Amino acid sequence: MSEKQNVITIDGPSGVGKSTISRKIADSLGFTYLDTGAMYRAVGLYLGRHNVDIADEKAVYAALAAIRIELFTIGTGFGDVGVLLNGEDVSQEIRSPEAAMVASQVSAIPAVREKLTRLQRTIGEQGGVVAEGRDTGTVVFPLAKHKFFLDARPEERARRRVLQLQARGEVVDEKQILAMTIERDKNDRERAIAPLKQAGDALAIDTTTRDIEEVSRLVLEAVKGKQAKV
Ligand code: C5P
Repeated sequence: MSEKQNVITIDGPSGVGKSTISRKIADSLGFTYLDTGAMYRAVGLYLGRHNVDIADEKAVYAALAAIRIELFTIGTGFGDVGVLLNGEDVSQEIRSPEAAMVASQVSAIPAVREKLTRLQRTIGEQGGVVAEGRDTGTVVFPLAKHKFFLDARPEERARRRVLQLQARGEVVDEKQILAMTIERDKNDRERAIAPLKQAGDALAIDTTTRDIEEVSRLVLEAVKGKQAKV
């Protein structure tokens, strides 16, 4: 199949504004927002809760068979994405910095990636999807019509994370958040399968000094410009 899929992919490291921008783009185009990171977070939560040894491939494989993940929108408009893990609402629990680190560890496991990539492609088949993550443009939807890669300086990304967590009422150690941000990115960029990297045909946008409005505008202009040519 060489036909382009009606999918927009937005990849990049943590804290570049991917989620907010993806939600805005999905909202303005009437597309479905696919938060792939939420899926990795939910799998990490399940494996941790069940004390599955993530170095034990067979144990992970067996556990995966018992995991069912569903995404839903919290609130109206472009609200946060919620996750049902085997029917249980784990939306809050998966958003902690610790859950993000566990997600990064389990995301390097081939069986985990296979299961979630399959699920993401099934959702993508319906078309009209904005997929956000680390490998959505490179691996999950290589034939996506529009691809973007967002990046920003680590200090700025950590600063945004701190603000986000504080807005949720959490007490955070800024130095620790910066260290975790750097470590998680390193894991994501250096893993053997589906590492975080820019797809060859993705448009790169540095968000360090750009706000959400400006980046969203750039993305929408590129999407509309390209669509106009088709
Ligand atoms: O985007 P978010 O911070 O929620 O992702 C959590 C973790 O899930 C990432 O650090 C990464 O390890 C993993 N992930 C991934 N591939 C994706 C999306 C997320 O490996 N497409």
